[in-house]
Amino acid sequence: MRWALRCASMLARVMRSPILELETAIAAAPFSIVPERKHELGDWVDSEGVTLDFIDRPSFTFHVYTQKKTVQTSIATLEYLWATSHVHLVLYDEYGQAQRRGDTQFNTGGNHRSRSALEIAKWAVENLLSTGVQPWPESFIRPHSHPENCSDVHTANELFLCAFAWMMHHELAHVRLGHNEAITSRSLEEEKEADVEATKWILSQCSDSAQAQKRIYGVVAAILALQAISSPSGNSIMQTHPPTFERLDYCLFESGVDPDNEAYAFAACIMQIQLAARGVSIAHDGKSFRDIYSEYLCEFAKLLH
Ligand SMILES: [Zn+2]
Repeated sequence: MRWALRCASMLARVMRSPILELETAIAAAPFSIVPERKHELGDWVDSEGVTLDFIDRPSFTFHVYTQKKTVQTSIATLEYLWATSHVHLVLYDEYGQAQRRGDTQFNTGGNHRSRSALEIAKWAVENLLSTGVQPWPESFIRPHSHPENCSDVHTANELFLCAFAWMMHHELAHVRLGHNEAITSRSLEEEKEADVEATKWILSQCSDSAQAQKRIYGVVAAILALQAISSPSGNSIMQTHPPTFERLDYCLFESGVDPDNEAYAFAACIMQIQLAARGVSIAHDGKSFRDIYSEYLCEFAKLLH
């Protein structure tokens, strides 16, 4: 691994948060998501001298200082990204099971598994929006480095690492595209350029369809995590970036997947749940996964106006 990581001592880190058990995998994630381009990426990171800083602070933090070439993120942000990856995959799986059973209604907190997942996600949001340094509650399910194969923690780790990797590639794209550090009239356009560049960069040379699918899930999981804390009244992410539903849409478009790709089903399912939490409930009648997803996208757009 050739990433320069700067943070506190190992012991302090492990005690600080269980997410840091994944620290090595986190630092390696931007490379491991693109094994076919990892040398190219490593050479570029070395030549540019890009560094990654984990800091302790509240609020969603994922930013690149394009002059210093330092990507900064916070432990609370990583915890939040893991917790949302976990809750989204649990709810998507439970939703699928309810559909297969022929249930007419889906209760997000219908069993212990989904209630626990929602509980951690709720804690992670509260932590993110308060001090950012709350200890991970003892009794809660948590990330760890050697989970049982195919367990929820294992799948959540994988999805989280892909989502994190895409977010890193978004920040690296700002450096590669020579974007300005200050907020300018081109900022929104630059955010879109970085999203598109990151999505293309991780997918364009991938020849394995299962690998590509996993990466697309990562893109979706990253943007859905942002969407979960975006409010129509506007917050920092909404003001400096295109609306998250738009980002989801053009990134899925750039990924080139067909309308019945499961990534659309995953996005549609989570958007439906997020809309229901905002009091918007609609019955869908789309034919492909993308049609259904588009209907929810329109509902998100309406929330903005
Ligand atoms: Zn950006």
